[in-house]
Amino acid sequence: MIDTHTHIFPDKIASKVTESFRAWIGEAAALSGDFTLGDLRSYMKRCDVEAVITFCVAERPEVVIPANNFLLEIMDNRTIFSFGTILPTMKDPVGEVRRIHEKGIKGIKFHSLFQPIRARDENLFLIYEAMDKAGMIAYFHVGKDPANPSLPPGTGPQDIASVRERFPGLKIVAAHFAGLFMLEEARKWIVGKDIYVDTCWAPSIQSLGSEEVVKFIRQHGAEKVLFATDYPSTSDPIPQIKWFKELPLKEKEKQMILRENARQLLGLG
Ligand SMILES: [Zn+2]
Repeated sequence: MIDTHTHIFPDKIASKVTESFRAWIGEAAALSGDFTLGDLRSYMKRCDVEAVITFCVAERPEVVIPANNFLLEIMDNRTIFSFGTILPTMKDPVGEVRRIHEKGIKGIKFHSLFQPIRARDENLFLIYEAMDKAGMIAYFHVGKDPANPSLPPGTGPQDIASVRERFPGLKIVAAHFAGLFMLEEARKWIVGKDIYVDTCWAPSIQSLGSEEVVKFIRQHGAEKVLFATDYPSTSDPIPQIKWFKELPLKEKEKQMILRENARQLLGLG
């Protein structure tokens, strides 16, 4: 099993992040770990997860390079696949994209909740272009802020559709079934397109209901769905994994979603 959406921070700031995460999210979502590498590894062991994609998102331009250096340090591109972070307001963002690509990072996470960016922002276009050329994967948070679901999203399904149109060759993953708390819009703008979606939902995938999940997967195509939990910013992953494995999908579809699609996307054959 591969989990394509997890979060990590350097040990020295992980406890501060955990604290502020709790304050931000309150009752709207859950936390099942402490954002450290040790905890991530113990989750993998506990849940039989062979590999993860993990993110460490920079909120300010001056922390982009240190965050990427941390991600480079912890990745092995075998069990831990780090996806980088970027901000268009830093000095030479395209140079930073090239630097991390040359060192083996396969994708970048764009997070409209924690970063002052939206997928449709024109100052991201040079970054997308460089990533497209390098064959890198653009992984987006898509949908609402679970702590403030009445607010419009920074990046919504329609924004991802417009990036798809403008950069037809760019590899795109749209997290949260391409629209956290915006499944109707995701159906309208994303379903059927050449865009991967992941299965993270808040506070858990069970809260979507099995009928909804199976319907979405079949409409979009199981070959473009990636199993993911958002660990540790999610409820206990054990029942989520168990629940997913028991969905009324074909064994082959489950295998694709739980492992094969991620291997394909990461270029592991
Ligand atoms: Zn996440």
